[in-house]
Amino acid sequence: MHNSLLGLQLPELALLVEEFGQPAYRARQLFEALYQQRVETPEEISTLPQDFRRSLSEKGISVGLPGIERKFVSRDGTVRYLVGCGDGQSVETVWMPEGDGGEAGDGSEAGNETEMAGRRWERATICVSSQVGCAVDCQFCLTALLGIKRNLTAGEIVGQVCVVLNDQDVSPPLERVNLVFMGMGEPFLNYENFMKAVHLLVDGVGIPESRMTVSTAGIVPHIYDLGAEAVRPKLAISLNASNDALRTSLMPINRKWNLEKLIAAAREFPLRNRERLTFEYVLLDEVNDSAQNARELVELIRGVRAKVNLIALNPGPGIVFRTPVQERVLQFQNILKAAGVPTFVRRPRGRDIYAACGQLKRTVELAPVA
Ligand code: SAH
Repeated sequence: MHNSLLGLQLPELALLVEEFGQPAYRARQLFEALYQQRVETPEEISTLPQDFRRSLSEKGISVGLPGIERKFVSRDGTVRYLVGCGDGQSVETVWMPEGDGGEAGDGSEAGNETEMAGRRWERATICVSSQVGCAVDCQFCLTALLGIKRNLTAGEIVGQVCVVLNDQDVSPPLERVNLVFMGMGEPFLNYENFMKAVHLLVDGVGIPESRMTVSTAGIVPHIYDLGAEAVRPKLAISLNASNDALRTSLMPINRKWNLEKLIAAAREFPLRNRERLTFEYVLLDEVNDSAQNARELVELIRGVRAKVNLIALNPGPGIVFRTPVQERVLQFQNILKAAGVPTFVRRPRGRDIYAACGQLKRTVELAPVA
């Protein structure tokens, strides 16, 4: 018997309902209460009879939502949540509202929770973690410094989304919510739980697959697996270098799956109608951001239906690289654009609270504004 309900799929709930001698249709009621209504306790599931709710509680069965341990609010409206998993471990989940007052802009006072809480937003993106820590050891990423602690369960992955939606008071239909699996960890090193969570998020929570993106550091076999899934998020690949020597020095995973293998997988990835693959490229000052690197990158990805997201390094303690000046970023972008590659510069979100890309390491003090 399971102790927490979150993470269970409909067939698993059907078994549980049967064990309690309840009619089969109660499984669907449980499913909807858990994922759509996002209840916190079995007692709240008003569609279930009192005695069933009580016997769930008596057997020690809980919903199993993770708890919000800390919450940091950025001046730009971004919220970084420290989410506790119940066994003393925690991960980070980031809420990024956009438009209609969701962003306070640069000139404003530093935000606080009450000030931001009442703000409206047009759409929002939740950045979700897949592991406690990370094993991949990218040299520019703060999460790498934690090492890998463990995989998250499907329930813990879905649970991050549920607690953030509850905290932000978002109710279905969730048309304006996007998910990116770009938080702590490497989703493809926790592939099964990640995919299980995707299904629960689509079928249960109600976020369409077209509004989800998963990012990988380049775990090639699972790129092929993802391509074969009937329901799947869009794919982003963290490239970060334009040749093998450079990539191996920045991302040791490149020894296992080099650029030839990685780009081959990208080329073969079955894109849907109008879908594009994303290549992410973290720009490190005078390391991978020269005009030569940009031209090499153009050749490397030639013929892949893809866009490139450039991310100027978000700095942090223990990271030896520097952030390039805006001019270098634009020069790099212009070379790609001139070659016909759609290229965007990702705006850093929540740098002042350590919420930006590569900064998630469960920092409990606020960062100096970068
Ligand atoms: N492990 C997966 C999912 C994390 S996504 C992956 O690597 O794709 C996090 C993104 O932030 C990656 O594209 C990564 O290259 C980028 N990143 C890591 N450290 C960064 C930093 N210090 N500044 C900016 N981007 C960073």
